[in-house]
Amino acid sequence: MNNDELLQRSLAAVWHPCTQMKHHLRDLPLVPVTRGEGVWLYDADGHRYLDGISSWWVNLFGHSNPRINAAITDQLGKLEHVMLAGFTHEPVVQLSERLSALTGNTLGHCFYASDGASATEIALKMSFHSWQNRGRKEKTEFVALAGGYHGETVGALAVTDVALFRDAYAPLVRNAHVVPSPDTRQAEPGETAADVAHRAAAALQAFLEQNGERIAALIVEPLVQGAAGMAMHDPEYLRQARALCDQYDVHLICDEIAVGCGRTGTFFAHEQAGIKPDFLCLSKGISGGYLPLSVVLTTDAVYADFYDDATVRGFLHSHSYTGNALACRAALATLDIFESDQVLERNAVTGAHLESLLAPLAGHPAVRHFRRRGMIFAFDVEADAGFGRRFYREALARELLLRPMGNTVYFMPPYVLGKDDAAFLAANAAAALEAALA
Ligand SMILES: *Cc1c(COP(=O)(O)O)cnc(C)c1O
Repeated sequence: MNNDELLQRSLAAVWHPCTQMKHHLRDLPLVPVTRGEGVWLYDADGHRYLDGISSWWVNLFGHSNPRINAAITDQLGKLEHVMLAGFTHEPVVQLSERLSALTGNTLGHCFYASDGASATEIALKMSFHSWQNRGRKEKTEFVALAGGYHGETVGALAVTDVALFRDAYAPLVRNAHVVPSPDTRQAEPGETAADVAHRAAAALQAFLEQNGERIAALIVEPLVQGAAGMAMHDPEYLRQARALCDQYDVHLICDEIAVGCGRTGTFFAHEQAGIKPDFLCLSKGISGGYLPLSVVLTTDAVYADFYDDATVRGFLHSHSYTGNALACRAALATLDIFESDQVLERNAVTGAHLESLLAPLAGHPAVRHFRRRGMIFAFDVEADAGFGRRFYREALARELLLRPMGNTVYFMPPYVLGKDDAAFLAANAAAALEAALA
């Protein structure tokens, strides 16, 4: 199919996600892609786009990565999939063992699904059910942070505090309690990031003091609340939240679907706070951005709550593609690359380099709150509400895939971003900003 045919047929037959389809008739471009290589995406006519947001935060080591390709190809010749109830296979065993080892074996039990929202629902259900099995029948509610995002299925929306995604479905959703976010941008003059963290933790304490009895779990996105607009916070918040969860008998769920897999500078974001969650949700980057895969890791204590002769005390949740062998092999190849290429060390260099290149952007008079955590860069732009859409178009016109959230522009590039790519990204993002402000 040539570009035009692909676009026409897509608009007729494909209902695209997170999109008002009618906007594609006006000012929202639809981009045909036929091939990817490294940080670049290409269309049939040879137009190219640097994938500055890792295709919705999933890609780690570039498109069409030779090592991940080889692992999947090898697995294809052996076993594509087998149901995981009553059956097992080497890739899922190895992946579970290696992920558990990465948590220092504090989270030794891995439950699989295919996407992030399902991982959220699994963690919520497991937390609730484990309290039920322990006889804590009153623990039926959850608490989440303002602006938090944990997926968009009806269950996950309960803990997702993003009005645009939730309000239309309000009558269907059993809302969780929402406590203040430790978002550093809320610092009053003279306040540090740690001060904001203390303030938010005090609000959490006040809430748990009143309601802790009924609360099964607190769910957080450690260090960076992605969909809230890359809202970053001090690790001190996580330390205090962990202590409060212990004090009030509340599980701590770390949703690292976006911030896990090295994105914030450590393999898991919560490591930077020196804490351990009761549940850890991973997806997005876990398969290198190749195949749908998510996993919830939990403790021996939670596992023991379900381990019983009675079927109904077990965790009977299931998805058809649970523990898919191809996806697990892609994840194993991804972990291999982390080990063999010293990715975290190299990302520290890549991140600092890109930050230095972005200095002019950070100093732009319309730019507010330039911030970075590992390989996540973001800033807010003082402009009218149409800015984000204009920036998206101007970036595409300069061979960049960047997709602002509201007036927040962010970069979340694949880790294989080279020096020339970084320079290209910084220069063209600056040009796109000028054009979108003009
Ligand atoms: C993307 C995301 C989810 C949902 O994952 P899906 O695979 O899109 O369902 C949940 N939590 C966080 C923090 C995310 O970034």
